[in-house]
Amino acid sequence: MSIPFLDLHAAYVELKAEIDAAVARVLDSGWYILGAELEAFELEFANYCGAQHCIGVGNGLEALRLSLQAMDIGPGDEVLVPSNTYIATWLAVSQVGATPVPVEPDERTYNMDPQRIEDAITPRTRAILPVHLYGQPADMAPILACAEKHGLEVLADGAQAHGARYRGAAIGGLGNATAWSFYPGKNLGAFGDAGAVTTNDPKLAERIRVLRNYGSRVKYVNEVQGFNSRLDEIQAAILRVKLHYMDDWNARRVRTAQRYSEAFAATGLILPTVVAKAEPVWHLYVVRLMQRDALQAKLGEMGVQTLIHYPIPPHLQQAYAGYPAPDLAITRAMAEQVLSLPMGPQLTEAQVETVVDATLEAMKVLRP
Ligand SMILES: *Cc1c(COP(=O)(O)O)cnc(C)c1O
Repeated sequence: MSIPFLDLHAAYVELKAEIDAAVARVLDSGWYILGAELEAFELEFANYCGAQHCIGVGNGLEALRLSLQAMDIGPGDEVLVPSNTYIATWLAVSQVGATPVPVEPDERTYNMDPQRIEDAITPRTRAILPVHLYGQPADMAPILACAEKHGLEVLADGAQAHGARYRGAAIGGLGNATAWSFYPGKNLGAFGDAGAVTTNDPKLAERIRVLRNYGSRVKYVNEVQGFNSRLDEIQAAILRVKLHYMDDWNARRVRTAQRYSEAFAATGLILPTVVAKAEPVWHLYVVRLMQRDALQAKLGEMGVQTLIHYPIPPHLQQAYAGYPAPDLAITRAMAEQVLSLPMGPQLTEAQVETVVDATLEAMKVLRP
């Protein structure tokens, strides 16, 4: 039996009747951009996140970039970002002309280490941009306290953590704003590109709403030089269907993560740690091992597909050539050691057991 890392087609098959009906409803409506489906989804997702406002945009990168722009962050400003995130987090900062300043993670949680934030703050720092990486909520309480103390904005990147909770609260209502991606592989995924921002700040919400649609509130009246970054009606209708199932699908991920953690407890693999009062949604289940490449090769031979998130940290990418590179030793080590095991709501119990058996067998050889 060969196990794919993530089976998106199986997700469609499970909800086919409802998704097909939602798509047909939009096609039959004759209205395809900025309509009733998006309005309904924005209300439903804001509600789900415990936030007052939700603004649908084109994708996760735009959700980040438009939020920064709406916060008036630009040239000369610094934004603290995780050193070990997906490059989109950095690109959003660079695209508004500001400078991403990397902060290394807590090695147990892979999330921005609040202890290191204070050291990275300069007179130019304008915002902290924590990522809820791999579906684990970032440690927001000390981050929010630090932001308050220094007068900084907090924009969170929730692209990997739809449904995650921190100290009993949905993460989408924390800080000044949260940016979301609905890229197909995310915990709440469209069948194309889509994104959103949630916030409790009505002014920020309004600015993003104007920026996403050519800087216009009234058709053909342009207040600012905006963008075309809209979440279309078909994707919105699909996301409304999938939002109903998201908690259930996240619960399946939790069960798989629990099974992995119990099965691998004594193998020598470094397993993900859940911090107190956090409810992760396991976008990815990431283990660490010095002999990571050998483990990945062995699992591959046994038909288990794994991925690396991420093999090259942003500051070492060619895209950031010439970036004044700090050492970032933890980040470099992680890039060499992390491995993501198959994870998704459609992974069957039998498939999970196959991954468990293959991993135990591989570890017997690597750590006899
Ligand atoms: C996926 C992702 C993004 C970007 O989302 P897109 O919709 O692909 O633009 C941003 N940040 C993180 C952490 C992501 O995983």
